[in-house]
Amino acid sequence: MKKQVVKEIQALMGNQSIVIPESMAGYLKGNEAPLALVFPENTSDVVKLIKIADKCAVKVAVGGNTVVTKGLKDGIAISMARMSRIIEIDHENLVATVEPGVNHKEFQEKLAAEGLYFPPEPFKGLTSSIGGCFANGILDSRSFNYGPTRTYILGFEMVLPNGEVLNVGSKTIKNVAGYDMIHFVVGSRGTLGIITKVLIKLLPLPAAQKTVLGSFLNYTDACKCISTLFSRRIYTARLNLLNSAMAHDITSGIFTETPKYLVMADIEGFKPSTKHLSQEIASIFKLGGAIDIMVAEDPDQNDAIWNNWLALKEKLNSDSSFSTIDIMVGQSKLHEALKGLEAIVGNLDLSPSLIVHALNGNILLVLSESSLSDIDETLLGISKLSTSLGGSISGSLGQRLRCQSSNENEMWEDMAGIITSIRNQFDPKGTLIPGESLIGR
Ligand SMILES: Cc1cc2nc3c(=O)[nH]c(=O)nc-3n(C[C@H](O)[C@H](O)[C@H](O)COP(=O)(O)OP(=O)(O)OC[C@H]3O[C@@H](n4cnc5c(N)ncnc54)[C@H](O)[C@@H]3O)c2cc1C
Repeated sequence: MKKQVVKEIQALMGNQSIVIPESMAGYLKGNEAPLALVFPENTSDVVKLIKIADKCAVKVAVGGNTVVTKGLKDGIAISMARMSRIIEIDHENLVATVEPGVNHKEFQEKLAAEGLYFPPEPFKGLTSSIGGCFANGILDSRSFNYGPTRTYILGFEMVLPNGEVLNVGSKTIKNVAGYDMIHFVVGSRGTLGIITKVLIKLLPLPAAQKTVLGSFLNYTDACKCISTLFSRRIYTARLNLLNSAMAHDITSGIFTETPKYLVMADIEGFKPSTKHLSQEIASIFKLGGAIDIMVAEDPDQNDAIWNNWLALKEKLNSDSSFSTIDIMVGQSKLHEALKGLEAIVGNLDLSPSLIVHALNGNILLVLSESSLSDIDETLLGISKLSTSLGGSISGSLGQRLRCQSSNENEMWEDMAGIITSIRNQFDPKGTLIPGESLIGR
């Protein structure tokens, strides 16, 4: 059977079908070896691959560029790296039609050059694909003002596990009646079908952008300044608080000393409004105890700061010795949550990374697994802390904890059955993404 699968794929795709030579190992993440790693060129290739998998009863996993091979032994790994065309940028309707393998950052840059904007910013800011962002339903530090990825998905084309092609949505904003099938698929992580085309809503690029950086000696002062911004109804595009481990790369060459805690505010709008607001934020930082403040006026300096930010996040995401826990508590509880976290994990300054997405009210703590003597105890403590503040947890460590005990806040026990039966309706033979449980177990 193994030979037959490989033969059929080779007959279908010729040299494009690559049967895991060493040189292709970089496209696979995990220890289980699939029979073939395939780079389809179009929807029809994906349909044929799915039909081969169905006929030969082998599993399939898909990735924007690299493919996670968990549960994929002797299955088919599909990388969408070659389906990376921007099919259309419709300026009149502010809609783009793209293939899922389009690199997120390159897409944003192409749009910016044409005066257009797609705000979502994935954690893996340099290497994420559009399909990966859609399939994960990513949310980021700009989501408070601009909305998460799903806000920008107007429709898609998807190959179902039986080989049928589903097309939903249209270029118009009002395009759903009844069940919202478009946004239902957001976050399904490839378990319902393989996305082969996406219709994306665009915005006009803001005319001006400015960044204000504030260096603080402790997170208490930094949090007070953030609260002052909120009480003054100042909601910037991004508002992040970072510890010194993260701040170093962003402020070297800007501040003489690396901030212990850095607040980054990103202002978008028109020239006069961004100028006025950046001055106001700088004076709030000054009154609030910032020891160094910088307003980036020059677009190149702005770009350099945020490109460093993207590169830092990408680095963290690609280092497998680190794990993340996301603590969602809301804007008003951030300081309390940081204090509680410090009591559990020790000096937050020493964490490989602490990112507070202040507008979203969440804290992303990166922990090096080797530094934790009793990881279960730590996770349980963090979970109890977030629950006591009316919040919840996620991220890779949050997910791990869910495997051990159900997260009361999210009613996972009740939801698990519903999620499983929906998945079975789409994929009754359990072909797609064998390593993805969706329910944390
Ligand atoms: C559970 C989880 C939640 C995450 N949440 C966030 C978040 O909120 N914010 C954030 O910035 N980052 C988040 N990330 C990180 C996120 O994966 C990356 O930031 C990035 O967007 C992924 O892009 P990628 O191209 O590398 O996708 P990949 O890692 O290749 O794929 C990601 C997921 O999407 C599926 N997928 C990829 N392409 C397709 C396709 N064409 N059709 C169907 N399914 C496809 C894959 O099977 C996989 O499940 C999350 C990651 C995980 C695992």
